[in-house]
Amino acid sequence: DAVLRIEGVEKNYEQGGNILSILKGADFTLNRGETVALVAPSGAGKSTLLHVAGLLEHPTAGEVFVAGKASSGLGDDARTAMRLSDIGFVYQFHHLLPEFTALENVMMPQMIAGLSHADASERARQLLDYMRIGHRAEHRPAELSGGEQQRVAIARSVSNAPLVLLADEPTGNLDPVTAGYVFEALNALVRQSGLAALIATHNHDIAAMMDRRVTLDEGKVVET
Ligand code: ADP
Ligand code: ADP
Repeated sequence: DAVLRIEGVEKNYEQGGNILSILKGADFTLNRGETVALVAPSGAGKSTLLHVAGLLEHPTAGEVFVAGKASSGLGDDARTAMRLSDIGFVYQFHHLLPEFTALENVMMPQMIAGLSHADASERARQLLDYMRIGHRAEHRPAELSGGEQQRVAIARSVSNAPLVLLADEPTGNLDPVTAGYVFEALNALVRQSGLAALIATHNHDIAAMMDRRVTLDEGKVVET
């Protein structure tokens, strides 16, 4: 049951008059309920792959399917709607809103999507519990440790119940032990909510916690 599939994806950038070819016919499938680590050297194109797969950037060629639906023929509005409903993104730096509590940060996307305060609050509490940070729900980001802040950011990224979670070095600024605990919680979240996750990481211990590992080799996705 593929929730995300890319086929023959190419991505070129122009840099100082030269064409940089980053993805060169990349194929990849992410199935419901699985976690996949993307481990590759800096500059290999991990962020590029996540941005293209997450509909944040257009591929130069090839197709991105989300829940079996091709994205390339969509107009900007439909593409944005697909991204907002089906894809959650986590970055290395959490971008939590400092003046709001953890709970309110996680509720925010649901409130914007039109859910009632009660429903948003109930779901946000559940997500914080899955991330094992429920006991800190009423705290503001500045009162939380780095690991706790990333747990909140991950909970927020799946606030609107996407199909796919894409994470770009989500624990890149944490020490390895803290990062390991954040990933344990993330794995639990994926299992409990039937998500699928593709996670770029440099940390081999974390990659070992995922169901599968892939790398980028010459612009193609390769199983390792
Ligand atoms: P990684 O995440 O594996 O470190 P990236 O996907 O960030 O790799 O970058 C791959 C290559 O593409 C790098 O050489 C980077 O400089 C280049 N690149 C990324 N984004 C752009 C852009 N918007 N314009 C030009 N070059 C870019
Ligand atoms: P910090 O950023 O302060 O290190 P974490 O993100 O690692 O915080 O989250 C702390 C949570 O991780 C604790 O509530 C606990 O559930 C778990 N944890 C942290 N350290 C340990 C440990 N040494 N043994 C067992 N569980 C731990």
